[in-house]
Amino acid sequence: MKSSHGHVLVIGGGGTGAAIIHDLLLQGFSATLVERGELTSGTTGRHHGQLHSGARYAAGDREIARECIQEVEILRRIAPESLEMNYGLFLALTPEDLAFAPDFLDACREATIPVREIPLDQAFRMEPNVNRQARMAVLVPDGTIDAWRLPLQFFATARAGGAAIRTFTEVMEIESAAGSVTGVRVREQATGREYRIAADMVVSAAGAWAGTVAQRAGIHIPVTPAPGTMVAVKKRLNNMVISHLHPAGDGDIIVPQRGLSIVGSTQWLAEDPDSIEVPSAQIEYLVRRASEMIPAFRETPFHAAWAACRPLAGASSNVEDGRKLSRDFIAIDHGRSDNLKGFISVIGGKATVLRAMGEKTVDLVCEHFGVRRECTTAVTPLLPHRAYYNTVPAGRSA
Ligand SMILES: Cc1cc2nc3c(=O)[nH]c(=O)nc-3n(C[C@H](O)[C@H](O)[C@H](O)COP(=O)(O)OP(=O)(O)OC[C@H]3O[C@@H](n4cnc5c(N)ncnc54)[C@H](O)[C@@H]3O)c2cc1C
Repeated sequence: MKSSHGHVLVIGGGGTGAAIIHDLLLQGFSATLVERGELTSGTTGRHHGQLHSGARYAAGDREIARECIQEVEILRRIAPESLEMNYGLFLALTPEDLAFAPDFLDACREATIPVREIPLDQAFRMEPNVNRQARMAVLVPDGTIDAWRLPLQFFATARAGGAAIRTFTEVMEIESAAGSVTGVRVREQATGREYRIAADMVVSAAGAWAGTVAQRAGIHIPVTPAPGTMVAVKKRLNNMVISHLHPAGDGDIIVPQRGLSIVGSTQWLAEDPDSIEVPSAQIEYLVRRASEMIPAFRETPFHAAWAACRPLAGASSNVEDGRKLSRDFIAIDHGRSDNLKGFISVIGGKATVLRAMGEKTVDLVCEHFGVRRECTTAVTPLLPHRAYYNTVPAGRSA
């Protein structure tokens, strides 16, 4: 590993950890990422895979919507192989939806999302399976993400730059001395062997597990795991992302993924992200909601129902002090909020905005080290995901 501003250890091999370690390497840090399972075995490997244009969020929060459309444009440049730009259709189904439509269109335009109402017969030709009772159709630049390939492109590029990536390795403790982080103690899942990795800084990108990881540094952050259910049926009923044109709610998106159609999602609160059971009533509810948009959904053979876990960040008096905010996610500098220098947690967000999450988090890392920062991840094309398998891990010879 080349010499650098310092050694940063990243916890969590989901999309957020991937974007962070890539940014760190470009910025001249040496970095190690540890993931307790396989890469993307957390929420990243289980979401719908919608590439959000931001239209879904525009009426509720313009800032999030604007961030989504900006990141869609960036990902199209740096990682086109992991995206399908199949666009999205919002369908108004009820008089209430029609009444909401002008606000929806105005909000999208204010957020700079190119939206266009299209004639219903055109919408039905594009997507023959949608509900023919639809009263209005709006075209938006949504798309789909390959949930495995996109993070792998970040990992591949980081590893080619010298990053060390250790899977099936769990962080058991974050060690510190005199109020500063000094490293982590990890356990290899396969052997049970425990050892120490020294680090000048530790960044937790542990998603719904962020609260547990922070506890391993002796810090309390109020994160509640909030799972959401999705249901897939065994047919690609739609090629575009189909959404219900109403204020964003449960069961109002159907995303095509390979030969499947996936409806989602719901949200409830759980004690532990590792022991989540999908409530059966939610499956019936989601099928019903999907059938309102695509009537054939109900008759299509069931494939699977599963849940992925959001980290719901609660309010806390000291979290406010240390956080760098996007409305959608927070990056907390625990040096400021909890007097533990060299420890950062990043919580929340979306797969679509993973690069921006990496940027905001690495801004905090740079502030900590006093490094002048020019982030280049928005203009640096990523290696193909296949390069991950062909890159020699740092510290090993070919
Ligand atoms: C139901 C649902 C649907 C969604 N749909 C979409 C969508 O369509 N489009 C979109 O853009 N976003 C979507 N999202 C959001 C998106 O899935 C998440 O924002 C994103 O996947 C979070 O990635 P992450 O890397 O932060 O977390 P994760 O992917 O959960 O990664 C955290 C990792 O940390 C690891 N870890 C935990 N503890 C330790 C430890 N002690 N040591 C080492 N490793 C550890 C975990 O194993 C895990 O792999 C959805 C979310 C949900 C819940």
